[in-house]
Amino acid sequence: MKIHEFQAKELLRKAGVPTPRNIVASNPTEASVAFTTLASKLAVVKAQIHAGGRGKGTVIDNPQQRGVQLVRSADEAAKVAGNLLGKKLVTIQTGTAGQTVGRVLVEEGCDIARELYLGIVLDRSASKPVLMVSPAGGMDIEKVAHDTPELIYKEHFDPGVGLFSYQARKLAWRLGLKGPPVRAAEKFMKALCKAYVQYDCSLMEINPLVVTGAGELIALDAKMTFDDNAMFRHEDILGYRDLAEEDPLEVRAATAGLNYVKLDGNIGCLVNGAGLAMSTMDIIKLHGGEPANFLDVGGGANTEQVTEAFRILLSDKNVKAVLVNIFGGIMKCTTIASAILAAYKLVGFNVPLVVRLEGTEVDEGRKLLATSGVNIIAATDLTDAAKKVVASCA
Ligand code: GDP
Ligand code: MN
Repeated sequence: MKIHEFQAKELLRKAGVPTPRNIVASNPTEASVAFTTLASKLAVVKAQIHAGGRGKGTVIDNPQQRGVQLVRSADEAAKVAGNLLGKKLVTIQTGTAGQTVGRVLVEEGCDIARELYLGIVLDRSASKPVLMVSPAGGMDIEKVAHDTPELIYKEHFDPGVGLFSYQARKLAWRLGLKGPPVRAAEKFMKALCKAYVQYDCSLMEINPLVVTGAGELIALDAKMTFDDNAMFRHEDILGYRDLAEEDPLEVRAATAGLNYVKLDGNIGCLVNGAGLAMSTMDIIKLHGGEPANFLDVGGGANTEQVTEAFRILLSDKNVKAVLVNIFGGIMKCTTIASAILAAYKLVGFNVPLVVRLEGTEVDEGRKLLATSGVNIIAATDLTDAAKKVVASCA
């Protein structure tokens, strides 16, 4: 799960990480009031979307307007907010369609001496989180990672123990910090690593982490992504969820208890079990097709879920054929066959449907489909199913 910058900053502030003072605004008037309330000569208006690259991003139909802009008066804050709110911002991370800006963050300006990079991700091969820093922070960090990866320094830490002081000092030295900022960096990094573990993050990124003219360290930008499987123990964070930022089909699927991920191909897949869904996608590709999605209806799918699954699959305009691949383990093939028939009638199919059933009560299940009068292409095994579905949309 992703959250907005202003929400990440709220969490970081609670964790003892210094952030600038700021106020969220949903309309130009609020942005104007926010500027006055902050009482800072310089402020920054920042589009809140679940994507980075806003500083270089541009508003559709108004390319002069970037996603992050400095402002010097309440009127200017209102004007920039008006240019951003309700408009689509396109950044390197949004795709060409862009993402609609629902809120802006008005933040006090900051005297930037240096822009550093700091990020934490889970390093699966080391089975530990890793803290990465770079002296070359700011808006070109992707270029740094690509062209000069030696400028990114890493320290792994144990989630139970946290980052050691010596590790923080080592990284502070790599960042070229000297004197009091080293202490500040040590505190900053330790607090960040602790928050990463405490909040069950999968990613945390502070870019830029600024060193001010006075030698203070401040998180000027903040990104946090969470492990969905841990959200049950973070109700406060769940409250931050912004469905407007998520793929509408994925939201619908999650509501129906389906595991759905949209992909770019044209063969819709409806499968029970994540492993079977993966192998179904593999075998479709092996026979020259491209899956349009990953969809696991789970072990105990009912008619409502299968119906909703078909609706979701078919609302994807790219889908030219559907493959249903069910292994009846706990579930009986007769149950799923009835559900398919019921759903088929409710949803109304306009593309070929290939069905492969195997397992408990398979003969009865196949018979139900064969005698239903519904136009279904029956397959005997996985290879047969893949070949038939690829051929049906060729
Ligand atoms: P991103 O492009 O989505 O990562 O947005 P950021 O929050 O990182 O902002 C982009 C850039 O705007 C930063 O790298 C800074 O250079 C600049 N910026 C952001 N806040 C301030 C600020 O308070 N003062 C000044 N002078 N620049 C800022
Ligand atoms: Mn940034």
